[in-house]
Amino acid sequence: MNQAIRCDMPLQVSVLTAEPSGSAQEWLTQLVWRFQTGSSQLPRYMGLDADQFQQLLITCNVPSVVMGLLQQQRQQLLAELLAMREPECQELEQWLSAYLLPDAAPMARIIAVASMGYNHLWQDLGLDSRQSLRELMQCCFPELAALNTQNMRWKKFFYRQLCATGGNYVCRSPSCDECVERDGCFAPEE
Ligand code: SF4
Repeated sequence: MNQAIRCDMPLQVSVLTAEPSGSAQEWLTQLVWRFQTGSSQLPRYMGLDADQFQQLLITCNVPSVVMGLLQQQRQQLLAELLAMREPECQELEQWLSAYLLPDAAPMARIIAVASMGYNHLWQDLGLDSRQSLRELMQCCFPELAALNTQNMRWKKFFYRQLCATGGNYVCRSPSCDECVERDGCFAPEE
């Protein structure tokens, strides 16, 4: 059983100072730590159900955290907002899952949940930069990352792909080159 810690406690330096270089498990652990310490903007349980989240804490060897009241309220609000977009989130999760490496579950759900957020995807995940998100995508969704040859913003890229495969989201233009939204879909996004 994981021991509870408070979110103002210092964390293991080895986990937080360096971006993980390699495995999907390291990326999952990184995201869980960032959620537990309030760096990310994700709903309660990272958008997973309670059992899945507990299992993730165990798998990643991350202790439970006693959240502050404000953080709890923020996560509750984000959970309510997510519930309103759950079908869209599940569609994105299902699509992402097709590209996810087998040992990276439940990364597809976490990325889909974060994509329902209101900031840049890397910010809602609590990552340090867009480059970190690219590294995560290359590690956990290598085929998908290879398709983003024009360095599109990731949320836009997901929906562009969904649009192309006949999903619910429909781009306003058949071609990015002619689209009035182009500046909003491509890098930079600092
Ligand atoms: S630039 Fe236009 S067509 Fe291309 S992904 Fe963005 S909205 Fe869709």
